[in-house]
Amino acid sequence: MNPELNARLRKELETERAAVLDDLRAYGADPGSHRVDRIAGVDGNFADSAAATAERGETLAFIDKARERLAEVDEALGHMDQGTYGTCSDCGATIPEARLEARPLSVRCVRCAAQRA
Ligand SMILES: [Zn+2]
Repeated sequence: MNPELNARLRKELETERAAVLDDLRAYGADPGSHRVDRIAGVDGNFADSAAATAERGETLAFIDKARERLAEVDEALGHMDQGTYGTCSDCGATIPEARLEARPLSVRCVRCAAQRA
Protein backbone atom coordinates (compact mmCIF):
# COMPACT_ATOMS: atom_id res chain seq x y z
CA MET A 1 0.00 0.00 0.00
CA ASN A 2 1.28 3.45 -0.70
CA PRO A 3 2.69 5.16 2.39
CA GLU A 4 0.60 8.28 1.93
CA LEU A 5 -2.67 6.32 2.00
CA ASN A 6 -1.43 4.26 4.93
CA ALA A 7 -0.61 7.42 6.90
CA ARG A 8 -4.00 8.93 6.09
CA LEU A 9 -5.90 5.82 7.16
CA ARG A 10 -3.84 5.54 10.35
CA LYS A 11 -4.80 9.09 11.19
CA GLU A 12 -8.48 8.27 10.58
CA LEU A 13 -8.24 5.22 12.82
CA GLU A 14 -6.53 7.20 15.57
CA THR A 15 -9.17 9.92 15.35
CA GLU A 16 -11.87 7.26 15.53
CA ARG A 17 -10.15 5.64 18.51
CA ALA A 18 -10.02 8.95 20.40
CA ALA A 19 -13.72 9.57 19.65
CA VAL A 20 -14.74 6.14 20.89
CA LEU A 21 -12.68 6.59 24.06
CA ASP A 22 -14.36 9.96 24.64
CA ASP A 23 -17.76 8.30 24.23
CA LEU A 24 -16.89 5.58 26.72
CA ARG A 25 -15.63 8.10 29.25
CA ALA A 26 -18.71 10.27 28.74
CA TYR A 27 -20.82 7.29 29.74
CA GLY A 28 -18.65 6.57 32.74
CA ALA A 29 -17.32 3.35 31.29
CA ASP A 30 -13.73 2.38 31.86
CA PRO A 31 -12.48 1.62 28.32
CA GLY A 32 -10.05 -0.96 29.69
CA SER A 33 -12.58 -3.10 31.48
CA HIS A 34 -16.12 -4.36 31.25
CA ARG A 35 -17.06 -2.66 34.47
CA VAL A 36 -19.38 0.33 34.32
CA ASP A 37 -18.57 2.62 37.21
CA ARG A 38 -21.31 5.10 36.72
CA ILE A 39 -24.15 5.52 34.32
CA ALA A 40 -24.40 9.17 33.40
CA GLY A 41 -27.84 10.69 33.28
CA VAL A 42 -29.54 8.07 35.39
CA ASP A 43 -30.42 9.39 38.82
CA GLY A 44 -30.20 6.84 41.61
CA ASN A 45 -33.58 7.97 42.99
CA PHE A 46 -35.29 6.87 39.83
CA ALA A 47 -33.36 3.67 39.39
CA ASP A 48 -36.50 1.59 39.84
CA SER A 49 -38.62 3.41 37.31
CA ALA A 50 -39.24 1.77 33.96
CA ALA A 51 -37.88 4.83 32.15
CA ALA A 52 -34.61 4.67 34.04
CA THR A 53 -34.32 0.95 33.37
CA ALA A 54 -34.90 1.46 29.65
CA GLU A 55 -32.42 4.29 29.56
CA ARG A 56 -29.86 2.20 31.40
CA GLY A 57 -30.35 -0.64 28.91
CA GLU A 58 -29.81 1.72 26.00
CA THR A 59 -26.71 3.13 27.64
CA LEU A 60 -25.26 -0.32 28.20
CA ALA A 61 -26.02 -1.29 24.60
CA PHE A 62 -24.27 1.88 23.45
CA ILE A 63 -21.26 1.10 25.63
CA ASP A 64 -21.12 -2.44 24.23
CA LYS A 65 -21.15 -1.09 20.68
CA ALA A 66 -18.44 1.43 21.51
CA ARG A 67 -16.27 -1.34 23.00
CA GLU A 68 -16.74 -3.47 19.88
CA ARG A 69 -15.76 -0.50 17.76
CA LEU A 70 -12.69 0.11 19.90
CA ALA A 71 -11.65 -3.53 19.51
CA GLU A 72 -12.01 -3.23 15.70
CA VAL A 73 -9.97 -0.03 15.60
CA ASP A 74 -7.29 -1.59 17.78
CA GLU A 75 -7.17 -4.66 15.55
CA ALA A 76 -6.70 -2.52 12.44
CA LEU A 77 -4.02 -0.42 14.14
CA GLY A 78 -2.30 -3.61 15.28
CA HIS A 79 -2.20 -4.78 11.66
CA MET A 80 -0.60 -1.47 10.69
CA ASP A 81 2.03 -1.90 13.38
CA GLN A 82 2.80 -5.41 12.17
CA GLY A 83 2.86 -4.33 8.55
CA THR A 84 -0.01 -6.67 7.65
CA TYR A 85 -2.59 -3.94 7.14
CA GLY A 86 -4.27 -4.28 3.74
CA THR A 87 -3.91 -8.06 3.78
CA CYS A 88 -6.93 -10.18 4.70
CA SER A 89 -6.29 -11.74 8.11
CA ASP A 90 -8.30 -14.82 7.12
CA CYS A 91 -7.25 -15.72 3.57
CA GLY A 92 -4.23 -13.49 2.99
CA ALA A 93 -5.74 -11.79 -0.06
CA THR A 94 -4.93 -8.15 -0.73
CA ILE A 95 -7.76 -5.92 0.42
CA PRO A 96 -8.49 -3.36 -2.31
CA GLU A 97 -7.48 0.18 -1.36
CA ALA A 98 -10.98 1.39 -2.20
CA ARG A 99 -12.37 -0.86 0.52
CA LEU A 100 -9.83 0.39 3.04
CA GLU A 101 -10.63 3.99 2.17
CA ALA A 102 -14.35 3.35 2.57
CA ARG A 103 -13.85 1.41 5.78
CA PRO A 104 -10.41 1.84 7.35
CA LEU A 105 -11.34 -0.72 10.02
CA SER A 106 -11.29 -3.52 7.46
CA VAL A 107 -8.91 -6.34 8.32
CA ARG A 108 -10.63 -8.85 6.04
CA CYS A 109 -11.51 -8.95 2.37
CA VAL A 110 -15.16 -8.57 1.41
CA ARG A 111 -15.63 -12.31 0.97
CA CYS A 112 -14.21 -13.29 4.36
CA ALA A 113 -16.04 -10.44 6.10
CA ALA A 114 -19.31 -11.66 4.56
CA GLN A 115 -18.65 -15.19 5.79
CA ARG A 116 -18.27 -13.95 9.34
CA ALA A 117 -21.33 -11.76 9.32
ZN1 LIG B 1 -10.18 -12.98 2.88
